[in-house]
Amino acid sequence: MSRDETRDETPACLLCDDALPDGETDRQACTTCQARLARQLRALPALYHDLAHALRPGPGAPGPRVTGGGSTYGQAPVNEGALDLRAWGGMVSALQAHEDDWRRVLKAAPAPARGSVEGALTAAVEFLGAHLWWACQSYPHVDGLANDVRQLRAAALSILSPPTGDSTRLGPCPAQYEDGTLCGATLRYIRGADSITCRRCGSHYRQAAWLALAADNWTDEPEGAPA
Ligand SMILES: [Zn+2]
Ligand SMILES: [Zn+2]
Repeated sequence: MSRDETRDETPACLLCDDALPDGETDRQACTTCQARLARQLRALPALYHDLAHALRPGPGAPGPRVTGGGSTYGQAPVNEGALDLRAWGGMVSALQAHEDDWRRVLKAAPAPARGSVEGALTAAVEFLGAHLWWACQSYPHVDGLANDVRQLRAAALSILSPPTGDSTRLGPCPAQYEDGTLCGATLRYIRGADSITCRRCGSHYRQAAWLALAADNWTDEPEGAPA
């Protein structure tokens, strides 16, 4: 269909605003946007984990510094951005609000109590990920989750992305998606970190794996690869 023939009633994807492709016109969001949102959602727990390293400003944990001109508070004791994202009220609460909302619409039981922030975050991501197909198909407010995931991700990456010189390029991420495609995002070692997290897919690599990554010679399954 050309643009001229496109009428107001032509359904568009809520997330990218493009006309929905043939076969998807009854959906709220196109399958391409759904796949991207799923990847970004599932990468949030790994970003959350990495933010712990960024709590204390210093080498390997770039963050805003306060230069106090001789005051005893010469340096901010913690990176407040990282702290806010990791606390109740940060990442976890934003995702739980969507989970609560989706559960109401689906007439599902309320979410159970989950203890730690990290446990609650992981559980909320699991629930939202498991119901993402439904939401992109049928839920007209699925864009609310997409906006929050984009903002949380951007906020975390703005804290975690090291300035040039503070990181070392290791090689492409070898994790494989369900459809067999490789992630391929550039993995970087940040000075002081005890693990490396892929910024695109959220796969986690511990020190034992780094040499193989650097050699682009991967043999083992990465921990936390997208299932
Ligand atoms: Zn789309
Ligand atoms: Zn990856």
